[in-house]
Amino acid sequence: MKTTIADITTEICDAPFLSQLLVRVFQEDGSVGVGECWWGVDDPAARAAGNQNPVHLLPIVSTIEHLLKPLLIGQNAGQISDIRQKTIHHAYRYGTEGIFMCALSGIDLALWDLLGKRMGVPVAALLGGTVKEHIRAYASLPPLKTRSLIQQEVGRALDAGYTGIKLHETDPQTAGWARETAGPEIALMFDVNGAFSPLEAVSTARRLLEHDVYWFEEPVWPMRDQRALAEIGRKTGIRLAAGENEFTLERFYQLCRQDPVAVIMPEISKIGGLTVAREITVLAGLYNRTLSPHGFRVGPALVANIHWALSSPTSDWLEIPFLPGGYAFPAGVRPPELLSGRVSLPPGPGLGLEFL
Ligand SMILES: [Mg+2]
Repeated sequence: MKTTIADITTEICDAPFLSQLLVRVFQEDGSVGVGECWWGVDDPAARAAGNQNPVHLLPIVSTIEHLLKPLLIGQNAGQISDIRQKTIHHAYRYGTEGIFMCALSGIDLALWDLLGKRMGVPVAALLGGTVKEHIRAYASLPPLKTRSLIQQEVGRALDAGYTGIKLHETDPQTAGWARETAGPEIALMFDVNGAFSPLEAVSTARRLLEHDVYWFEEPVWPMRDQRALAEIGRKTGIRLAAGENEFTLERFYQLCRQDPVAVIMPEISKIGGLTVAREITVLAGLYNRTLSPHGFRVGPALVANIHWALSSPTSDWLEIPFLPGGYAFPAGVRPPELLSGRVSLPPGPGLGLEFL
C-alpha cells in the first residue's frame, strides 16, 4: 500500500545555545512528512563542562529509533488516531509522559503533514477548518537581564510590528523597564519558568501588577504544582498562564479546572502532537480558557501551532521566539510572516513548511 510507513528518520540540528530535533516519516510511495520533537534533555556532563548548550537529544532519538520506529514501520500513515492508540498502548507501563511523549510528538506532527500533503489541503482543514483568519503574535525574548538589552530588544520587537512582548526574567523591575519602552498599549507577558516558591510568587505578582503585566507565566516551582498556581491567582488576581510542562490530556483537564489559570499553554512538541491538541481545544472551549500554544523554536512545531491556533475558537496570542541579531534557529524553517502583528496560515498543503 502506498501509504504504508516505510521509514522514520531523525535529524539533530545544532547551533550555539539552540538545538532542534526533526523527524521525517516516509511512506512507501516516497512522500515524506516532517515533524519536530521537544528540543532537549538536560545534559549534566555538558553543563559541568560549561557547554553553551547543555542539552542533548539522544534520549529522544533513542526512543524514536528503538521504541516507536519498530512498532510503526508497516502501519498505515493515514490512520493517525489508530497509531496514537497503538503507541500509547505499547508504552503504557513505562511512558505516557516525558521523553516518550516528546518522541511521539515529532512523529505525530509528521503524520499530519503527510496526510495534508496527500489530501492536497492544509493541516488546519483536516482539523475542521479555520475559525479565524489570523492570530495575534507576541515576541518571546530570551533572558536578557540588563536594562539596556531589554529596552533595545523591546524596541526591535515593536519595530517588527509585535503588539505583545514576553520577558523571561525574574526581577519584576525588568517589567518596568520593558513598559517604559513599550508604552501602555502593548501586552507585556512575564515568564519566570518556575523560579519562585508560592510566597515569593505572590509578592512578585503584586509588583508585576504595578507594571500592568498581561499574564504571569509559570510562577512557581515545581511548575506542575497546580494547587499552588491556583492559590497565587486567588491571592493576587493576576492573570496566570501555565501548561508548557504538562504532558497529558488528563493534566490539562485538571489545569482547566483551576479557576485562576486563564491561559493554558500546551507545548505541541511535548503533548503528543496535533492528535491530542484537538482534544485540548475542546477542553479549552468547555472551560472557557484562552489557548495560547507554547513554543520557543522556529520549526515544524511552530508552524503546527499556527494550524492548531487558527482552528481553535478560544486561541489568542501565538508565541514567536525573538532572538537578538546573529542567532538563527538551526532547523532552517522560514519564520511566519507578521502582518499588523498577526500571523496567518502558511500557504501550501500539509503544514506548509518552507525550508530556507
Ligand atoms: Mg514559558
